[in-house]
Amino acid sequence: MFDAVIIGGGPAGASCALWLKMLGFRPCLVERRPTLGGLQNDNPYPNEWIASAPNRTGYEVAADIHRQILAQDIVCRLGEAVSALDVIQDGFRVTTTGGAMIFARSAVLATGVRPVKGGLAASDQVLIGPGRTMFNADFDGQEIAILGGGDNAFENYIFVRKRGAAAVHIYARTIRARREFLEKVPANDVRIGTYHVEPERPAVADRIYDRLVVLYGWEPYLPYAHHLDLARTARGFVETDADCQTSIPNLYAVGEIAQRMHPCCVTSMADGVVAAKAIQRSLEEDAVARFVERVHASRRLD
Ligand SMILES: Cc1cc2nc3c(=O)[nH]c(=O)nc-3n(C[C@H](O)[C@H](O)[C@H](O)COP(=O)(O)OP(=O)(O)OC[C@H]3O[C@@H](n4cnc5c(N)ncnc54)[C@H](O)[C@@H]3O)c2cc1C
Repeated sequence: MFDAVIIGGGPAGASCALWLKMLGFRPCLVERRPTLGGLQNDNPYPNEWIASAPNRTGYEVAADIHRQILAQDIVCRLGEAVSALDVIQDGFRVTTTGGAMIFARSAVLATGVRPVKGGLAASDQVLIGPGRTMFNADFDGQEIAILGGGDNAFENYIFVRKRGAAAVHIYARTIRARREFLEKVPANDVRIGTYHVEPERPAVADRIYDRLVVLYGWEPYLPYAHHLDLARTARGFVETDADCQTSIPNLYAVGEIAQRMHPCCVTSMADGVVAAKAIQRSLEEDAVARFVERVHASRRLD
């Protein structure tokens, strides 16, 4: 029986495991990829948003997380996805796709998000989500349609242009991008309103493109826990209290899967700390009560 099983080894899950270990507990971290670091494994760009880690790319941030967790001798099951999470008496049972079962007194959901596909399937002509796939694609001389109206859509417009695209158009139902990006995208390359997508041609609003780039945002990823009927926010993220605890006692959700704070590496790591301290309080409640009882008993003997 572990003190906590943490599902997902991105910034949130890794930080929770690290803090639990430093606080004297026995966590088990389960990660479906062979390496820890989560979405930062898909981020080839400089990550300048972490005050204590300048000049690191996303890949390097992920590698740092991986090294730090392994250096602390935290029990990790890498390359194993969780297929089911069940509530059992006095704790939780996690089953992995490899058939392993892990038992723990508390559990932490940290499996993050995945790009919203909008009913489209990824292919050579249809790229879904930002990061590694975009970075590795060739856009030189191509005509590109970007679907979506948030920061990722506008930032990738600038990226694709720099990579030599001949024409780039953004199709957005609504615009949510920050000012910095809005100032860099010419208004006549943006279409606002509803549009029809034909992924096979591929075409948008009857205009043929070489490639479509789908940047519709993110949705929480927890297929292994659907049967638990957890309380969700209006946008489908896992609802948590100020301790990152879900609607099920001793089950926590940290990082992007809960979106308690603005999603990024630092807030995800902060969530991991909050959950670790809450787990500590819950696991030590009995220990404190037993210690106080011993103090009173020794006084009575005096
Ligand atoms: C291209 C790109 C660039 C970014 N740039 C920045 C940046 O510069 N600065 C910044 O702060 N943030 C950046 N972000 C966002 C940042 O990466 C995320 O906010 C952060 O990684 C969220 O951490 P998380 O632990 O909640 O989730 P994730 O990082 O998504 O980690 C979740 C982990 O759970 C694992 N998992 C999923 N399902 C299972 C399962 N069933 N069993 C076991 N494991 C599972 C996944 O493999 C993954 O490792 C970027 C994201 C992308 C995609």
